[in-house]
Amino acid sequence: MDIEETLLMIPGPVKVAPRVLRAMSRPMISHRSGDFGAIYEDCRNLLKDFFETNNDMVVMTGSGTVGMDAAVAGLIGREDKIVTISNGKFGERFTEIGERYGKAVPVKSEWGTPIDLDKVEAALEDGAKAVAMVHNETSVGLINPANEIGKLAHKHDAVFIVDGISSIGGNEFHTDAWDVDIAITGSQKALAVPPGLAVVSVSPLAEERFQDKSASYYADLKAHLKSARKSPAQTPYTPAVPLFYALQEALHMAKEEGFEARKTRTAKLAESVRAAAKALDIELFPQVNEYSQYSNTVTAMKMPAGITDDKLRGGMKKQGVVVSGGQEKLKGKIFRIGTMGVCSASDIIRTIQTLELVLAKEGKLSSRGAGVEAAGKVLGL
Ligand code: PLP
Repeated sequence: MDIEETLLMIPGPVKVAPRVLRAMSRPMISHRSGDFGAIYEDCRNLLKDFFETNNDMVVMTGSGTVGMDAAVAGLIGREDKIVTISNGKFGERFTEIGERYGKAVPVKSEWGTPIDLDKVEAALEDGAKAVAMVHNETSVGLINPANEIGKLAHKHDAVFIVDGISSIGGNEFHTDAWDVDIAITGSQKALAVPPGLAVVSVSPLAEERFQDKSASYYADLKAHLKSARKSPAQTPYTPAVPLFYALQEALHMAKEEGFEARKTRTAKLAESVRAAAKALDIELFPQVNEYSQYSNTVTAMKMPAGITDDKLRGGMKKQGVVVSGGQEKLKGKIFRIGTMGVCSASDIIRTIQTLELVLAKEGKLSSRGAGVEAAGKVLGL
């Protein structure tokens, strides 16, 4: 199917509004100019509201992982410990990054199962310079308890790092209220900008605890903060200027909608996907408890019995609707639908309709139209 007619329903990169795409086609400017500085400063201010923080912000050229890398490289030296919490692919990435720069102390749960807070506390008893966690574990569609883990981190005097890459601006995420020292997002998620920028907020405590020299030259948060505080605001190295144009436009779009309103809308969209899954007898993948919730930005569902990933996602793709599969050990076992950014109610209806068509073709549809009806009811259609 023509790429322009394809509906991208994966948990990032997400659909980008034409207005944001058009912003990227503006003529190039010098990244040392007042024009660039004004754009960067505007983004930094709007991002504070987007993150719900008074902490300082930097925007780095690179995908979300560069933000994770920068946080760990800035804080953790060879002999420093970092507690890394995982219940999915991206939590495990923090362990890998922690091992690269220092001593990672992993606290693991089965993918898609809740984090055990007692295990986190036990890991902190021996002292650690930082704790790193993923708020919205995209690989399994689960929200982890940032507020509770942040309290544990600070009780043990550790800097609190949160990967909010698929969360900030989509799920409830309160950087300051949860005392998050370093919060990270990526442009291709709830910001609804093309991939290529990492956004990082840095608290005074994190800055105070930075090593003299970050273990990373390029992803050095001290250098990024120093440049961002210049007048005009700058980045240490040449940034992806068109992505900054896009970021500014997308932030204004989100502000026009209202940052709160966007989160509420995102929650409704995810609720409608969960309702459709229930109506179609499709089980949700993650396990939730009092400390964890289903994600509003990505819904992970078990592959219905007797249908392959190729048939389900391949069949949907033929109809122009792209959803994600499972990653690594979950390949073929789950599929995931993203609901971030400018995703709309009609995008959901088209997605569920297409899912129903594919299920019907494979003889796996229990009740024709039930998914669309259930989703439509939640969406008020
Ligand atoms: N963390 C989470 C929770 C993610 O969802 C992703 C990407 O999907 C990443 C980290 C990695 O981000 P990137 O691929 O932008 O480096």
